[in-house]
Amino acid sequence: MLNDQELLRYSRQILLQHVDIDGQLRLKESRVLIIGLGGLGSPVALYLAAAGVGELHLADFDTVDLTNLQRQIIHDTDSVGLSKVDSAIRRLTAINPEIQLIAHRIALDEDSLAAAVAAVDLVLDCSDNFSTREAVNAACVAARKPLVSGAAIRLEGQLSVFDPRRPESPCYHCLYGHGSKAELTCSEAGVLGPLVGLVGSLQALEALKLLAGFGEPLVGRLLLIDALGSRFRELRVKRDPGCSVCGSSHA
Ligand SMILES: [Zn+2]
Repeated sequence: MLNDQELLRYSRQILLQHVDIDGQLRLKESRVLIIGLGGLGSPVALYLAAAGVGELHLADFDTVDLTNLQRQIIHDTDSVGLSKVDSAIRRLTAINPEIQLIAHRIALDEDSLAAAVAAVDLVLDCSDNFSTREAVNAACVAARKPLVSGAAIRLEGQLSVFDPRRPESPCYHCLYGHGSKAELTCSEAGVLGPLVGLVGSLQALEALKLLAGFGEPLVGRLLLIDALGSRFRELRVKRDPGCSVCGSSHA
């Protein structure tokens, strides 16, 4: 059930026929894992908290640095030196005290990542490196949990949804497993705040659609964002039957 305060708080999205009371209740009953509370994780956590997703599990082992604040808008100047999880909890609690926040302040190894993924309905990869993305993908395929994956660097962004519950869905490894580009992080290559904000906002949007059960998710499609030319492009992506991560999981 939703109380009067919740009906008011979420009224502008409950008004949408695609959400309605039923969708809002589904959001309230949902548990989501956010990997990384940086440039992508900031808008993801802010929007999912504001929208009333019932449980946000927040994973980040890092602390807030002054160089983060140009894009990681969940943190503020007073948070410098604090753990990103604690900084995020402070802000999210101020936005919406109705939801539950679960903290993972240490780096997740294979076992703890598997347990963290098993405890939720959906995972958002907001990390900034290839090895984490591969590990998160493998855990999601094994647990058959949908994964909303976003990335942004310099002036380019990418977004896709991998859903192991759908037989046609590729996984992250199907797409990027073979000869990925040399790894660059934002701290080395640079990135603009509004671009990571855009990709993170789209990740939050995909998550709300999957959790509340409306619309057409970005499964089997890769959205490419060219910030310099203000262009969005979409590529079809197929599952690789020989993929070493998801190849046998759909049998
Ligand atoms: Zn695969």
